[in-house]
Parts: sequence; structure tokens; C-alpha cells
Amino acid sequence: MSDTIAAIATAPGAAGLAVLRLSGPDAIAIGDRVFRGERSLATAPSHTLHHGGAHAADGGTLDEVVAAVFRAPRSYTREDVVELSCHGGRLPAAGILHALVAAGARLARPGEFSLRAFLGGRIDLAQAEAVADLIGAETEAARTLALAQLAGDLSRRLREVSSALQDLLAEVEARVDFAEDVGGVEVPAHVALGLEAAEARLAELLEHAGYARAVREGARIPIVGRPNVGKSSLFNALLGEERALVTEMPGTTRDRVSESVEWGGVRLVLCDTAGIRDDAERIEAMGIAHAEALLDESPAALWVVDAAAALEPADRRIAARLRGKHAVVALNKIDAGERVAAAEVTALLEPPAAAAATRLAASSVVRVSARERRGIDSVRTALLAALGGDGPPAAFAAAASNPRHVEALQRARDAIRRALALAADGSPGELVAVELRDGAEAIGEVTGESIGADLLDRIFSRFCIGK
Ligand code: GDP
Repeated sequence: MSDTIAAIATAPGAAGLAVLRLSGPDAIAIGDRVFRGERSLATAPSHTLHHGGAHAADGGTLDEVVAAVFRAPRSYTREDVVELSCHGGRLPAAGILHALVAAGARLARPGEFSLRAFLGGRIDLAQAEAVADLIGAETEAARTLALAQLAGDLSRRLREVSSALQDLLAEVEARVDFAEDVGGVEVPAHVALGLEAAEARLAELLEHAGYARAVREGARIPIVGRPNVGKSSLFNALLGEERALVTEMPGTTRDRVSESVEWGGVRLVLCDTAGIRDDAERIEAMGIAHAEALLDESPAALWVVDAAAALEPADRRIAARLRGKHAVVALNKIDAGERVAAAEVTALLEPPAAAAATRLAASSVVRVSARERRGIDSVRTALLAALGGDGPPAAFAAAASNPRHVEALQRARDAIRRALALAADGSPGELVAVELRDGAEAIGEVTGESIGADLLDRIFSRFCIGK
């Protein structure tokens, strides 16, 4: 990394201040070609501020500025860094950037300062990505989560799992080498115990991933149910205002209606869908296809059932689609009667044989009346709980929220599970070692210990310029 990069670090537009950033081996020399103050930046100690002017190559004054000097390695990028604060607005900062480039700097690519911070070992990859999350956070909960990740909560736990895995791997490999002539070796019980512990720790980080992701980017919650059960009415009640058209005719909500709400710091996008039913006509069937597609991609759903009427075959079909998801069932219209018992719908969602296997698919049933606005808050609470929002707050601090992290950690967990299965079968240590190496590598993709240049480029190109 031999060149020096420059960028405007603040957003464009009218503002009190704008900040330009310079980083690299020539940051101070280039800064001195543009900045003129009482003393040169070359003689300035690290972490000091200097008032002066910024000048164009022809000597003309561009703006009055304050220069901050951070000498390597005590800077964001661990390189020499100069930050120039000038007046806000488009022209002063643009003029200074131009002068910096004329003085020898290169325009920074998006995320390049953070990339250098990562390559310089100042932050790991998960932390660098948290910087982008923090900048993009739109809710308090998202900000808190990003800040925890930036502080290294997730990274710290991952490093612990990773080093435990490396130790176990070393032990398995040592035995393999030692026992070469003996012909294969089994994995000792204490190694299997260690693997179980590592798997449990990954499971912990993944347990609240759905919720953490909902906090980070919002979760889509399709509202499904037979026509005329009160989906639109409940949608409106949840939003607290009249949004969707409520009609007496079955099957009249033909378009999806989406509305974003923020509950407990979490952004949910509620989607009122066309009723799912068996005898749908064509246009409505398109809406139903949408509803089903939405269901497939959402981790949780709100299923509205008419509590005042008997369950129908269409309800069974819906229940079948919901299996394996976090479903909240609203038994609606309780003001008109209660013919459907909670146990009946849970039985449809979780057939006894599968119940134990799908711990994740916990569902809850709430009795409501959209018309009389009864039970609406319970639906909200149940939806947040369905996303995993009912765990201890400390668990969320380290929860994986970035889909890239979640995917990598799932791969790591699966590899450890396979290693455990192999160990339980008495398979040779070589095979177990292969899985452990895969697992450790997948964790390394999150922290950045094992990651290719392409992936790095892709991750940092999503950052803004100047970060
Ligand atoms: P959707 O087709 O599932 O979206 O159902 P709608 O929200 O359009 O409601 C269908 C009908 O059920 C309308 O006549 C609503 O007024 C009525 N309805 C909705 N919620 C309730 C409720 O809680 N109690 C009663 N008695 N009627 C309701």
C-alpha cells in the first residue's frame, strides 16, 4: 500500500463543516503542499490541530481550514492521516480535494479508508462492516447493534470459537501423524466435547440472527389467511390507521399492500396479501402466488384465522406453508364468537411428530378482535418474539445480523456437526480434521482471517466514499 488517498468524508450539501481525509505515506507531505499555517504539518506532533488556509496549486486561497495530524500507527488506517475541516457546502471541499489530487494524492475508492484499517490490523472485517451498518442505521436498535459489533462483541466471541477449533484441530492432526503406522485413529472423547461446546457457541450467535437481521434491515411479515377473515382490518389496526380497503366481499384485496412500522426499535414491513384459498379466480390467483412467494422468503408470518367460523381446508393448506416458520396466529373476530380453539391451529402448524424437531418453529396464538381493537398489542409483542426478540439483550449484542456472516457461521456450524457425527462413528481423524479446517475457515471469512481479495473488494465497494 504505497499510495496516498484522499476523499471528502462528509455528505455533500449545505452544512457548517466538511471534512477531507488524507491517508498514506505521503499524507503529511501532500497536506503541507495545500495547507499553510503557522507551522508546517511535517513538524507537527501527532494528534494536534492547526489553523490555517488551504491553497490551490496557483497559490489562490480556497478556504480557511483546521488541519488534524495523526501519525502512523495511531490513526484510523494505521497510516499517516491528515484531516482538513473546511466550510460546508459543495465548493470549498471540492476545491481542496482538487488541490490535494494536484499535490499527489489519489482519489479514494468507496470504503478504502476502512479497507486500510482492516489490512493494517486495526479492526477486523466484522468490525469494518459494522462501520457501514452504523452509518446506515435507521433505528435506535440498529445503531446499538452496529455499535456493539464495532466494539468487537461478535469478533471476540468468534475468535474464541476459532482458537478453540484450532486447538482441537491441532490435537486431532497430531494424533493422525503419530498413528500413521497404526492405520488411522479415533477422535478422543474430550475433543468431541470441545466440538460440542464450539457448536453450542455458534448456535448461540445464530439463535438471534433472525431478530438481529430484522433490527439491521427490517423484516417482512406477510399477513396471510383465507379471504374475509379480517387481514386488512388487522393490518389497519396494527398500523393504527385506515390503510387497506376493507370490504364485505371475499377476496377483494388483490394487490399487496405494504407498510413499514417501527416497534421496539425494530422495523417491520407488514404486507397485507390476497387471501389464500382453493377456488381462486385468475387475477386473485396472481395475488396468491405473490403471497406464497412472500411467505417463502420471510422468516415469520402473521396468520389470521376467523375464530367465529369453523376451520376450512384452505386453513390446512396455509398451515402447511407455515410449518418451519415463526408463525403468529391471530384468532380474529372473537367478538363474534369463538369456534376455533388455539390448540386446533397449533396442531395444524406443528404435527406432534415434528414438534420436537422444529424448536425454531415456535408459534403463538393470540385472540383478537380487529373490529373492537382487542388484543392488538399482543399481536405486536408476539411478532417481535417470533423474530427472536424475547431473548436476553446481551445475546443480541453479539448476534450475527449480516446475512454474509450468518451464512458463513451456518457453514461453520454444519462442518462442526459433520465432524461430530464422524467422530461418533469412530471415523478416522483425517476426515474429522477436514471438517474442522472447513469450519475454522468459514469463521475466518467473518473476521477476515481467511478471505480472498475479490470478496474484500465486493464488501468494501458497498461502503461510501471517504469511509
Ligand atoms: P380480509 O379479506 O381477510 O382482508 O378481511 P377484511 O379485513 O376485508 O374483513 C372482512 C370482513 O370481516 C369485513 O366485513 C370486516 O368488517 C369483518 N371483520 C374484520 N375484523 C373483524 C372482527 O374483529 N370482528 C368482526 N365481527 N368482524 C370483523
